[in-house]
Amino acid sequence: MSDLTRMSAAELAGVIKRGEASAVEVTTAHLDRISAVDERVHAFLHVDREGALEAAAAVDAGDRTGPLAGVPIAVKDVIATKGVPTTAASKILEGWKPPYNATIVERLQQAGTVMLGKTNMDEFAMGSSTEYSAYGPTNNPWDLGRIPGGSGGGSAAAIAAYEAPLAIGTDTGGSIRQPGAVTGTVGAKPTYGGTSRYGLIAFSSSLDTPGPCARNVADAALLHAVIAGHDPRDSTSIPQPVPDVVAAARRGADGDLTGVKLGLVKEFAGDGSEPGVLGAFRESLEALVKLGAEVVEVSCPHFGYALPAYYLIAPSECSSNLARFDGVRYGLRVGDDGNRSLEEVMSLTREAGFGPEVKRRIILGTYALSSGYYDAYYGQAQKVRTLITRDFQSAFEQVDVLVSPTTPFVAFPFGSRTSDPYQMYLADLFTIPTNLYGGPAISVPCGLSDGLPVGFQVMAPTMADDRMYRVAAALESAVGTLTPPEL
Ligand code: GLN
Repeated sequence: MSDLTRMSAAELAGVIKRGEASAVEVTTAHLDRISAVDERVHAFLHVDREGALEAAAAVDAGDRTGPLAGVPIAVKDVIATKGVPTTAASKILEGWKPPYNATIVERLQQAGTVMLGKTNMDEFAMGSSTEYSAYGPTNNPWDLGRIPGGSGGGSAAAIAAYEAPLAIGTDTGGSIRQPGAVTGTVGAKPTYGGTSRYGLIAFSSSLDTPGPCARNVADAALLHAVIAGHDPRDSTSIPQPVPDVVAAARRGADGDLTGVKLGLVKEFAGDGSEPGVLGAFRESLEALVKLGAEVVEVSCPHFGYALPAYYLIAPSECSSNLARFDGVRYGLRVGDDGNRSLEEVMSLTREAGFGPEVKRRIILGTYALSSGYYDAYYGQAQKVRTLITRDFQSAFEQVDVLVSPTTPFVAFPFGSRTSDPYQMYLADLFTIPTNLYGGPAISVPCGLSDGLPVGFQVMAPTMADDRMYRVAAALESAVGTLTPPEL
């Protein structure tokens, strides 16, 4: 049998179902791959070897079934996994083992998947390079001296390095799509409320959206279908049926986009993008036109304000959400020697437990929410958010989906953007508008620039997740998937 780690999730599910390989063999092959390469990639913060082998054995015994029975998966460390360390890549949660599973994790179990472990990320999902992990960065399998994107760099690198065929990410401002783009993998952000946030360690509650990471569009759709759907434990979960993303991906793979209108956002044109990124994007657009799609230029006049609005809204919500890490309830406690006040212990704990980017956001958010500044900053940002939503709505009256490069630049070398936070924030220039609106968007590989992957983004109206899968699958059928150099 050919190398199990090179197979897609769909292929692995078939191989296991037909008895051509056992789930234990499939899991072992991936655990061996992790042992062989993860010292160099550092995609994982925790590998749950025992738990994975146990789950795989249950599949082989027929005690664990489902559409993805026996297929290994990696889960971003911001998602609660019962009894398995969950740190959000922060020192403040070092050693914390959640007493419950996130809804997503329960659904993964019901689908029969085998969780290999927890993946590295920027601390509390704040960042675009995984350099803000308290446990050291993840290295991009395409070039170990470059970032794998962020915040979900571990999930994207794990699948690019063939350590897992599938992974779960979370996207607040681009953290599934941007790592997907720079590692040559597929990353999809579902409609906000389309996937449950229950058991997700909150960063910015009105934006956080869990979603699938995979090496091809069909696999991403399979995983999307398994995790999505209404959850009564999440008050913002949408009580509507999930669009049939699997069928849409299948339809798109036929390579016929006759009658589909693609909206090219005028305001994104050339906006600081590297020439190589624009080149790959334009070639892909031509490929889509050959498949029958029509390109229409649309104007979204407020997209230029998305980044500043996001960097008020997200920090404001984070400053509230992260108040729970106080040295009392979870994880780290510093200076509790019997002589210090509660406030001193909290202060010492937060000083030692949070990294610089998290502190920056808490301070920024606290300031933006403080009386006297609330209306000027947070209130204004919320108004801008409404205008951006209207831009999307009027664009979708003219076209079926919007398209853009996923990121303005390819994977950058370590340390090249950490000294200036604004330079780091620019990585999400094209992904953030979608989060403010709440719609779905996907990044699909569309070629190389200087030997590094470029991502193509497809944005769709809320609850039209199927549309983006169709276009993404059509593009994949035209340009193919990318294979990184051997590690
Ligand atoms: N890079 C963005 C930020 O730092 C987005 C993060 C995310 O989507 N979790 O906030």
